[in-house]
Amino acid sequence: TGEPRTALVTGGTSGIGLACARRLQADGLRVAVLDLDRPDAREVAAQHGLKFVGADLSRRSDTVEAVKTAVSLLGGLDVLVNNAGFQHIDPIATFPEDTWDAMMHVMLTAPFLLLKYAWPFLIRSGHGRVVNIASIHAQVASPYKSAYVSAKHGLLGLTRVAALEGADHGLTVNAICPAYVRTPLVERQLADQARTRGISEAEVISTVMLESAAIKRLLEADDVGALLSYVVSPAAWGMTGSVLDLDLGWTAR
Ligand code: NAD
Repeated sequence: TGEPRTALVTGGTSGIGLACARRLQADGLRVAVLDLDRPDAREVAAQHGLKFVGADLSRRSDTVEAVKTAVSLLGGLDVLVNNAGFQHIDPIATFPEDTWDAMMHVMLTAPFLLLKYAWPFLIRSGHGRVVNIASIHAQVASPYKSAYVSAKHGLLGLTRVAALEGADHGLTVNAICPAYVRTPLVERQLADQARTRGISEAEVISTVMLESAAIKRLLEADDVGALLSYVVSPAAWGMTGSVLDLDLGWTAR
């Protein structure tokens, strides 16, 4: 009834975030995407009729300010999708410390700050939804991904605490854990992994990315959007603090 529900999707101009934003839009929500303030990001948002919030989630002040901007663009906030993230591949012994700090901020501290400052709006909604796009690497490890695996493991902890704190307010908080999804992030990683391991990109897909998967096929970004669509729906009111695997059977072993 009445006004459409509103959603903010971080990292929403590429890959999984864009697919999620478009799916929520198709479901009838009013959607804003947050991303680094680059002309190409603004253009992608405009192309799809998505409102745009420019912010660098590796900076605290940008992150806090982004909530105000999003709420004023959308006229409230019912759904927050913490999706922005990036990968860096290096052994611990040579892992750059500034990169560690930036990854922890974008993938763990920013979701906390966005949740903190969006909290009053999500509560006011009465049926708020927070979905954290974690990763199968929130539950298992792979070598050379120390910061990524650590930040994603932490994000599951935040998911569970927020689920408990939101429970009396109709606010659900869940995490989605995909295995490898064909996105620009993975395309870049193919090249990095090939370099680090001294093998071809085709070998990276078959022997590294799909080695632990039972289903030997990369996921598509829309597959994540389809699961998100259910989690934010009113029907999913009883699902909170859940860690939802979309992992090609990775953790079934
Ligand atoms: P992507 O590179 O296609 O998109 C990531 C988006 O995040 C980009 O638009 C980027 O600009 C944005 N972003 C990065 N740093 C930012 C910052 N400092 N401030 C604001 N925005 C920033 O990647 P993707 O594959 O779509 O990944 C999206 C999320 O899904 C990430 O959290 C990633 O860890 C997770 N994930 C991806 C896969 C996969 O295989 N692709 C698997 C599991 C989980």
